[in-house]
Amino acid sequence: MISNTLLIKILNNIAITIKENKEYLTHLDSVIGDSDHGFNMNKGFNEVRQKLEPLQNKDCGTILKNVAMTLISKVGGASGPLYGTAFLKASVVIKDKYEISEKDSIKMFDESIKGIISRGKAKQGDKTMLDALIPAYQIYKDSINKGNSIEIAISQAQKAAYEGVEYTKTIKATKGRASYLGDRSIGHQDPGATSSYLILKSISDTLNN
Ligand code: ADP
Ligand code: MG
Ligand code: MG
Repeated sequence: MISNTLLIKILNNIAITIKENKEYLTHLDSVIGDSDHGFNMNKGFNEVRQKLEPLQNKDCGTILKNVAMTLISKVGGASGPLYGTAFLKASVVIKDKYEISEKDSIKMFDESIKGIISRGKAKQGDKTMLDALIPAYQIYKDSINKGNSIEIAISQAQKAAYEGVEYTKTIKATKGRASYLGDRSIGHQDPGATSSYLILKSISDTLNN
């Protein structure tokens, strides 16, 4: 179970993690993109962080909807609308709720991924954030369905996301800017998969510490 108070803490920590990894994400994007992924993500999550204070006593759906709108409006590039859509789809699942259950969390993760797919038209293996998120979701869902807690499931999910990031090094980009490089994108890690991993890791660290 995740309360609205804990949700605010998670979002704050995601923003801190993104800030700490801004240069790293931009570096990854400089190799196969246009050197702005860290900048884009930090701009959005910094803005999110500033909006958390007045949202403290709101329901979880309202909190995530605000996050989504901020990301959609403030983050330039492909990643802003994609992450924004993910948070928006997740917010609908917990509309008016002050607590997120295990079951809700599976649905939120699932809807987020479906949102990213419907918006970006990418699939697993295209070397995008989906290569971190989809395997993480599968492990997460299986783990919760086996009776594990959100804390355990998210810890397993972030490890799967990390493996997904490693996998992106081995494949050719077929969506987004990196696809312009064709075979030359092979050998390089996808920035968006990396930010997705960092977000999941931050959620896991918040819940497990
Ligand atoms: P831009 O490429 O517009 O500069 P960013 O650098 O912020 O945007 O984000 C790039 C990341 O977005 C990529 O590393 C990839 O993971 C992700 N991405 C790009 N296009 C798609 C897509 N169609 N579906 C899912 N993810 C995508
Ligand atoms: Mg970029
Ligand atoms: Mg860009």
